[in-house]
Amino acid sequence: MRKPIIVGNWKMNKNNAETKAFFEAVDGVAASENATYGIGCPFTDLRTALDHAKNLVVAAENCHFEDSGAFTGEVSVPMLEEMGVKYCIIGHSERREMFGDTDETVNKKAKRLIKAGITPILCVGETEADYDAGNSEKVIREELAGSLADLCPKCVGEMVIAYEPIWAIGTGKSASVEIAENCCKIVRDQVKVMYGEEAAEKVRIQYGGSVKPNNIVEYMAQPDIDGALIGGASLKEDSFTEIIEKTK
Ligand code: PEP
Repeated sequence: MRKPIIVGNWKMNKNNAETKAFFEAVDGVAASENATYGIGCPFTDLRTALDHAKNLVVAAENCHFEDSGAFTGEVSVPMLEEMGVKYCIIGHSERREMFGDTDETVNKKAKRLIKAGITPILCVGETEADYDAGNSEKVIREELAGSLADLCPKCVGEMVIAYEPIWAIGTGKSASVEIAENCCKIVRDQVKVMYGEEAAEKVRIQYGGSVKPNNIVEYMAQPDIDGALIGGASLKEDSFTEIIEKTK
């Protein structure tokens, strides 16, 4: 039995006062034995979020794979670990597109996070052009082959993988339930190919891309969808609360 995990991704939004207000409004609702709820927030909000989180888990949105050194503007895994961060999003398509993240660097980040006991939330997903060309499966398998290389089966089983078709992120054009389930099934199969049945059965797979209170339930009803990574709808207290209440 996989425990569902629903995580918001605030991206570059919210200051400390807004973070405090959000956690004061939403954290109590997130108490659940049956599912994990969390928020990925900017580095500058992590301290405030952690101080106000009793039920929500707190995720960083990125990390560097080196421990320290001349990497201006970057934040290392030991820095996150010292703060008490337990999850970290890696390989989000915005980072891959705009900040040069590759399967190779994402793989290094995954390795460093796992060593620190921080759960990676690894994002993969195809562009609209790849989707139109019928290349979704190829892209998903290739991204996973690179990003998950040389890990241990147990480590992969304990990770979270988010399938996020780029054409569905922030567009309001969510993937149909059939597409989302089919692609999450491909993710699970690729984990099986690389790390075996046990890791594949254990790994939690999220769908991400314009998830809202009005479509979360149908995604969560799919056998290979164990959760969601949610951008826009995680920014508003009322919509994230509604998502939690509908999936508890
Ligand atoms: C995301 O940022 O990962 C995301 C899925 O965004 P949205 O829910 O706004 O499409």
